Amino acid sequence: MDVIGSIHEMQSLSDSLRQQGKRIAFVPTMGFLHDGHLSLMREAKKHADILVTSIFVNPAQFGPNEDLDAYPRAMESDLAKSRDAGVDVVFTPTSDQIYPEGYETYVQLETLPNHLCGLSRPVFFKGITTVVTKLFHIVKPHVAVFGEKDFQQLAIIRRMVKDLNMDIEIIGGTLIREADGLAMSSRNAYLSDDERTEALRLSQSLSKAREMITAGETQAAAIKAMTETHLSGCPDMTIDYISLCDPETLDEVETVTSPTLMALAVMLGKTRLIDNTVLVPQ
Ligand code: AMP
Repeated sequence: MDVIGSIHEMQSLSDSLRQQGKRIAFVPTMGFLHDGHLSLMREAKKHADILVTSIFVNPAQFGPNEDLDAYPRAMESDLAKSRDAGVDVVFTPTSDQIYPEGYETYVQLETLPNHLCGLSRPVFFKGITTVVTKLFHIVKPHVAVFGEKDFQQLAIIRRMVKDLNMDIEIIGGTLIREADGLAMSSRNAYLSDDERTEALRLSQSLSKAREMITAGETQAAAIKAMTETHLSGCPDMTIDYISLCDPETLDEVETVTSPTLMALAVMLGKTRLIDNTVLVPQ
């Protein structure tokens, strides 16, 4: 497995792989790898000859009061996990290389970021679409895999790739959970034991919502009310949003008559947690 820190070196390698007719798959990450990331890597390997992953904690997607400095990092064990997952190349640029002095070009969507996480994190998606565009220009993949854990991010990347005619296939990877249902996330490392138990309220709410749909419920308001009650049972949990929306436009729905994204975001103490499921009416 190659570990490449230089943008120029990564571009040269991708050029030569492409000249040899190799198909390149790409999984961008911010590191502190868990089984969610590794499942994307396994999926990506099915679609290409060469698997490139990146580990880069992207400053442009963190707001001024967010956890950029505290974000967990573990480069050595990430490299070992990547090797075990069959990664061929890990790209590990520095912030100074990605955003050198004088940097001023950003990629931004008009509407999709004005929903869900974008409402409370105003620079988040601008930072993501910018860094993903840059990484696509550096790694030059044929196919890239993003997790359904970050459903809005996946919808935004799909839209951006279509809108900007990027010749890259985008694949969504299944959301991977711990055995008790908690969605895997690098940020779970912040949780105390008590918070770790309370965090289960998110996946529990999604399960209860699926049960309500199976029992014939169609009113989004009823599902939101159940969820609000369940999440509010934990005094340390502050709800950011409980959304039932169209999986493509992310516009809120009042009735669940077709597959509907149910997405949740909360602050549990100082930790932001998100989770989602697609509700499929009977
Ligand atoms: P991150 O390192 O958090 O930026 O995530 C890198 C990629 O891994 C993104 O495409 C995420 O959607 C994906 N990912 C993170 N957690 C999970 C999970 N629990 N299941 C599946 N994919 C995930």
